Amino acid sequence: METSPLLDRYKGIVSASLIQQIYEVAHSLADLHVLHINTTAQGGGVAEILSDLLPLVEELGIRHDWKVISLDEASGYFTARLVDMLQGYDTGAFPEAEKQVFLEKLRHAVGKGPEYQADIYFIHDFQLVDMYFIHDFQLVPLAEFFPWMRPAIWFCHVDTAHPTPSAQQYIRQFLDPYALTCFNSPASVFEDLPPEKVQVVTLGIDPFRVKNRDLPRERGMQILSSCGIDPARPLITQVSRFGVWKNPWQVIEIYRLVKQQMPAVQLAMVGAMEAKDDIKAEEILADLQQNYVHGDTDIHLLSDPTIINHEAVNAFQRYSSVILQRSIREGFGFTVTEAMWKKQPVVGTRVTGLQMQITHGSNGYLVDDTEAAAAYTLKLLQDRDLWRELGANAYETVRQRFLFPTLILGYLKALQRAQAVAPV
Ligand code: UDP
Repeated sequence: METSPLLDRYKGIVSASLIQQIYEVAHSLADLHVLHINTTAQGGGVAEILSDLLPLVEELGIRHDWKVISLDEASGYFTARLVDMLQGYDTGAFPEAEKQVFLEKLRHAVGKGPEYQADIYFIHDFQLVDMYFIHDFQLVPLAEFFPWMRPAIWFCHVDTAHPTPSAQQYIRQFLDPYALTCFNSPASVFEDLPPEKVQVVTLGIDPFRVKNRDLPRERGMQILSSCGIDPARPLITQVSRFGVWKNPWQVIEIYRLVKQQMPAVQLAMVGAMEAKDDIKAEEILADLQQNYVHGDTDIHLLSDPTIINHEAVNAFQRYSSVILQRSIREGFGFTVTEAMWKKQPVVGTRVTGLQMQITHGSNGYLVDDTEAAAAYTLKLLQDRDLWRELGANAYETVRQRFLFPTLILGYLKALQRAQAVAPV
């Protein structure tokens, strides 16, 4: 049997039986060739998962490729609207005209031949893979459009616990050709899908990444200082791209309430502008700068990806005094897992992904209201023994339930089940 040094690093961190199961399932999948397709190579949770997952499963003897279909700005507006609707935030009329334009573009992005002016095509190179793994809700039509792209698995990474019906129906019409559909929480599973076509894959983080591994305090503080933070004063931080779902406005409101009680407090909002499909980020950042900061030099909006690299994310998550995650919707929320691994109790919201990870009062707090969130933030800033106690529980939660091997096992089981439905 193949051994994976990348997997064996987890011995002593996660249970031996989990590692054993991974080896066993991987063995049954030896020589399979899988192609992953998503919309962005960098930035955001999906890219994070794939860049950790693929090298490890390759070591387990399963061949993998990864292709990115970059969508243009017009497509970006349709998909931004669609995600708003899928996450139940936008209940307006379905954008039919934009849908037609988008679907046509998607066909051309993959098609090859004189009739297509595609700048991205891969039909030739990848017609012979055994399994297609489609990520991102906007790519869901692929298995229907291109029957050669089967057997296929679709992974829904957004929070579909409360979808707007028309958006859910739009997605649902494309699901029948899939051998299996994956969701990252039970709450997000579409109700009318047959159970044999559904797999919940619990996500997890890689503790060996630069972003998550130990970082000496001195180095961490040096990074915070270089970003303009005064290391001698308390710091509240939210790490998240500048997106409407991350509710950066409430982060500032919470900070303002805390500052009334604790004038020395500072705020960092850390969101490197790198995800190519995140078209609203610039607008949101400008809005915050122009309409919310009001010249307060203790508010630090940090978006330059040359400064906010993974080591800097590590430093902010590890050495901030309190971490907030104020998402309005969140399928899972890696930023929370990462902070909890660094012994931070997170002041989060009652959304799908955060409810999975945070137990209120035990390893963090779950609270939607601004005043209550400010009160818990202040409590953690003032009572550092409490902060340490909850932080230790947060670390233990991640160690037991949300480290990478859990995700690997779920992923391999998904391949196994899809293979059983549609033998390759
Ligand atoms: N991230 C990062 N730099 C930033 C902000 C976020 O590397 O400035 C990473 C973050 O550490 C996490 C991922 O991007 O690993 C975001 O995943 P999450 O599930 O929290 O949210 P998404 O962006 O996928 O909605």
